[in-house]
Amino acid sequence: MSARRWVATLASTALITGLSTVAANATGNPTNGAIPPVSHCGTEASGSGNNGFVDYTQLTTALQQLETSTGGTVDVEVAGYSNQGRAIHTARVGEGDKVVYVQTQIHGNEMHGTEAALELLKQWGSDSPAAKKLRKNVTVVVIPRLNVDGGELDQRQNDMTWDEVVADFPQLAGASPSWNYNSRVGGFDINRDFHPNLDYVPAAEDFPGDSADTGWYITPEAQTSRNVYRSLEQEFGTVDYFVDLHNQWSCYATDDMESMSPLSISAKFIDDPAEFGSWPKFDMDASKRANVAVYEALQKRGKSSYGKLTLYPQSTNLPGTALGSYQLRGSAAILFETSSQTQYDGMKRNGMLAKMVETGLGGLVDAVADGSVNSLDTGAYDAIPTRVTLPSDGPGV
Ligand SMILES: [Zn+2]
Repeated sequence: MSARRWVATLASTALITGLSTVAANATGNPTNGAIPPVSHCGTEASGSGNNGFVDYTQLTTALQQLETSTGGTVDVEVAGYSNQGRAIHTARVGEGDKVVYVQTQIHGNEMHGTEAALELLKQWGSDSPAAKKLRKNVTVVVIPRLNVDGGELDQRQNDMTWDEVVADFPQLAGASPSWNYNSRVGGFDINRDFHPNLDYVPAAEDFPGDSADTGWYITPEAQTSRNVYRSLEQEFGTVDYFVDLHNQWSCYATDDMESMSPLSISAKFIDDPAEFGSWPKFDMDASKRANVAVYEALQKRGKSSYGKLTLYPQSTNLPGTALGSYQLRGSAAILFETSSQTQYDGMKRNGMLAKMVETGLGGLVDAVADGSVNSLDTGAYDAIPTRVTLPSDGPGV
């Protein structure tokens, strides 16, 4: 929409939320500081689209180069295969006894996290004294672009039909397709296919399911993520941290309506852990502290819009997400939601957004490595400004 209409809708949103003082401001000049000039509502197609992001071939090459250029300090392996047979990779760096498991692009059209992860892997694998010290204290395992098929198609879902699921799990013949199946594109929202019991076997009576219930591991991509998680759990006892990097719609503001919010984060994915069995290692406070580490790393960059991050809605109850299922098993869970639908943003803004994810995730890993994350205040999490939705909401987690 045009800048004029955007300002009008911002004003009406402000009124709805009772912040009428800002509405008066927002009806003035849109470049007067209320809205940072680099921010927009994401509907003005810039033309550069996804050209700034690596495609699957480039990603694979970049990972191989990382392994070679670091002399194997960044160890790249094939963790599994997508439904269309593309290799899904892990990149592992460090020897510390704390482990951070990072997953990017479970939604194929959410690309900033992959770019940030590639840049961080380069830094973590470098010869610098800081990188060497970090590697002694932490192990980072990254799946850069879990949904490699969706990435090639620039779609949220993977590329798999319900018939293919039934072929893999004949006991599901006659069951209703799972609720997260999109028959129009022929794919599943992988981020509803998780279950806290890593050994769960799909049963017909558990379909079609719904968003308030657990998933099934019917997609090869979720199975791959689970297999990596399970092997890390066997190695480390607990997978200390799990980070999932996503994108949300562009149109969010901070709750004072002073600024657009380029990033939302969250520790909250489960309403009632007891609803899904006994999970004694579930630790909401550890998740909150980890999110505070992200928040503080970005607040240090306060002069820029990096400091304007917000909390993702805390009413979220999504046990079938990777975040929800892994958090139940004892991982501190951290959601990043970068405010952009990548096809709408220009390369300059995409570069800024990827840098922001890099700064926040890098700050978390630093805080894990030096142990400072353990002394952060959970109250600081609750004080993070909440996200205000501007019109035309898009898909979330
Ligand atoms: Zn997403």
